[in-house]
Amino acid sequence: MLIVPERDIADLMTRDAAFDAVERVFAAMAAGDAYNFPVVREAIGHEEALYGFKGGFDQSGLTLGLKAGGYWPNNLEKRGIINHQSTIFLFDPDTGKVKAMIGGNLLTALRTAAASSVSIKHLARPDAKVIGMIGAGHQATFQLRAALEQRNFEKVIGWNYHPDMLPNIEKIATEAGVPFEAVELEGMRQADVIISITSAFAPSLMADHVAPGTHVACMGTDTKGKQEVEAALLAKAAVFTDEVAQSITIGEAQHAVAQGLIAEADVAQLGAVINGTDAGRTSEDQITLFDGTGVGLQDLAVAAAVVDLAVEQGIAIEVDF
Ligand code: NAD
Repeated sequence: MLIVPERDIADLMTRDAAFDAVERVFAAMAAGDAYNFPVVREAIGHEEALYGFKGGFDQSGLTLGLKAGGYWPNNLEKRGIINHQSTIFLFDPDTGKVKAMIGGNLLTALRTAAASSVSIKHLARPDAKVIGMIGAGHQATFQLRAALEQRNFEKVIGWNYHPDMLPNIEKIATEAGVPFEAVELEGMRQADVIISITSAFAPSLMADHVAPGTHVACMGTDTKGKQEVEAALLAKAAVFTDEVAQSITIGEAQHAVAQGLIAEADVAQLGAVINGTDAGRTSEDQITLFDGTGVGLQDLAVAAAVVDLAVEQGIAIEVDF
């Protein structure tokens, strides 16, 4: 069995490798070659922790496994370690023997950023110039850094519920040499692409904050009850997702579906656009919306890529197990 510890991931994994792995597995999911297992998520009644498993099998890439972990809200304050903690396990699909154990914390951020980037590549207008960020927390920085590589963006605009956090994303824009401006939500009308990545339970971005032709990636809503954008926005948009079953139950589409504004059949898989079986954006004026709920196969895809890189570079730890 191979081990790739968390400490080695930053030096091994690149944004390009994460992007390729996620794009490939979204395509495999839409082709019916890969599927996610039902998600387990439990409040364990200890340290206020949420713990669970996300797993799946990709028959085309022969990747089988799961991510185990969750959220320990007291970690940072009590122990000085980050609140999100996860580990990915890969198994040999021919024998069931464990193949690898990989640190999953940084990979989670990279695979989540890769998902919105894949949506921008396939759904945003090619001439997109202004990118709007809603959210300025841990994930937002990864999201912006990856998204800036997808188009020739000339300006970053940002809004956050806690304005004091905005320098987090301003720093990323500055590093990329792109000017940054803090705006009110109404100011999002100048954006060609908007990414929302917050932990909100009520919408910030309303339908009339979004101009025609915009691509919106909703990345924060991954649990029942969370919501970042007005449900009416989904009714106005062509809606895409990583996995339809998750989108309508734990993703942003849960609210529009519950209110009868859209139906399950109105939500398409981003993988189908990648495979060319769905047209994706069909006009310059269309609003496209990607509901990125986060699937186990994304974690397995980036973990498998990191194991290959660790083996290539001779730093995977081999354990007789
Ligand atoms: P974080 O705690 O670092 O940042 C939270 C962000 O939400 C901040 O910008 C904060 O200002 C904002 N926020 C908090 N309360 C708000 C409110 N009431 N209204 C509007 N905004 C509010 O968290 P993070 O690690 O950046 O994660 C952000 C979200 O992304 C979380 O909900 C997390 O569960 C989700 N997430 C999704 C995926 C996925 O695959 N889709 C993966 C990882 C994380």
